[in-house]
Amino acid sequence: MNSSSANLQPAAVSNLYGHPLPSYLQSDKLGPWGVYLQQVDRVIPYLGHLARWAETLKRPKRALIVDVPIELDNGTIAHFEGYRVQHNTSRGPGKGGVRFHQDVTLSEVMALSAWMSVKNAAVNVPYGGAKGGIRVDPKTLSRGELERMTRRYTSEIGIIIGPTKDIPAPDVNTNEQIMAWMMDTYSMNEGATATGVVTGKPIDLGGSLGRREATGRGVYTVGVEAARHIGMDVSQARVAVQGFGNVGGIAAKLFAQAGARVVAVQDHGGSLYQASGLDVPALLVHVAEHGSVAGFAKAEVIAQEAFWDVDCDILIPAALEQQIHAGNAHRIKARMVIEGANGPTTPEADDILQSRNILVLPDVIANAGGVTVSYFEWVQDFSSFFWSEDEINARLVRIMQDAFAGVWAVAQEKKVSLRTATFIVACTRILRARELRGLYP
Ligand code: NAD
Repeated sequence: MNSSSANLQPAAVSNLYGHPLPSYLQSDKLGPWGVYLQQVDRVIPYLGHLARWAETLKRPKRALIVDVPIELDNGTIAHFEGYRVQHNTSRGPGKGGVRFHQDVTLSEVMALSAWMSVKNAAVNVPYGGAKGGIRVDPKTLSRGELERMTRRYTSEIGIIIGPTKDIPAPDVNTNEQIMAWMMDTYSMNEGATATGVVTGKPIDLGGSLGRREATGRGVYTVGVEAARHIGMDVSQARVAVQGFGNVGGIAAKLFAQAGARVVAVQDHGGSLYQASGLDVPALLVHVAEHGSVAGFAKAEVIAQEAFWDVDCDILIPAALEQQIHAGNAHRIKARMVIEGANGPTTPEADDILQSRNILVLPDVIANAGGVTVSYFEWVQDFSSFFWSEDEINARLVRIMQDAFAGVWAVAQEKKVSLRTATFIVACTRILRARELRGLYP
């Protein structure tokens, strides 16, 4: 490879080996994996000599599809499709959540695993990227069925996970209890208790203080940092949040505590608006009791589509992928979008928001608080020495602030979006590790 490789255009780098891409990498131009590939293409021109290795970023290292059969309570046998994808392990073991959702696909899990590689490198925790999921609506299962499905899935992916190989964590529709079942199943199969095999566990099983709130706290922390840069007063800001689960609910709570007005929320059950600001603590209690924001009395119900027209300063998508697209990006009124969810903005929408001078804090830095405290949990499990919540939060805030400052500086220097800047920082770290390790054999 001569020095001209530094100037290779994205398309040329894609075809570096002259081989057609494997079919599973071609099949999905518009889905999450296609979005991720476009994001990578945008960063390749900034990778210098490391562009030689960029193809690495476009192929998952390992993807496992598993059949998950369980006996339902009514005596019939149901089969679910499960996945675990390890996108990259150049910088350390795979790390990333497990999602239970009826729309989960291999393409989605591949993209989520790749975003984990980027995110972990962006905040410089010593992990690669991985993700898992089961294509199921867990709300249709009894608790016993959910446990059996979780355990069988864990056993099936047990051949590639482990405390030094790949460490799952919670994501959409998975929680501390599911992590406890995963930890127990893996430990039973290993013949020894291995708390470090998953993070996001209950505190009584080696979980970390502050982990449940960590992603929302990270969203809030980078939001405050960015607001400072653009002269926005968070205490006066109006905030709209899509997704009122672990990430959106906590982020809303922290912004409200800082004096901001949470004027609109939306989840799978409905959309609410309250110009004077919703009572966030009361809404959190309502969601804990009823599973959705729907039915909350102290707010106006608005149409699902009207959510995107809400007058606000900060918009936090914290639900699923591709929620902000070419069809609604021009309607958004916020000055700043903080991506709590993974992949909520399509590349076309990214361009529209940028052209409208709306600042986007990308998922790969904005929601990295969760994996950062997962890293703390894993370290604590290995050393069997646990830290106070204040210590956890202080370390989290410091890492998020430092990472964000680094990304902000690159964005200014190279005159690129914060997403491309984060990809430049992260992909450089990943590919430097790749280059140092070399190819085996
Ligand atoms: P969760 O299951 O706790 O909450 C998901 C929320 O999204 C719920 O309020 C649900 O009602 C809502 N939702 C689902 N479908 C919707 C739809 N069609 N329209 C509007 N709202 C809808 O999940 P979570 O852990 O909060 O994860 C949310 C997002 O944040 C996901 O993209 C996830 O990958 C990402 N994320 C989570 C973590 C974490 O630590 N939990 C870390 C990083 C990123």
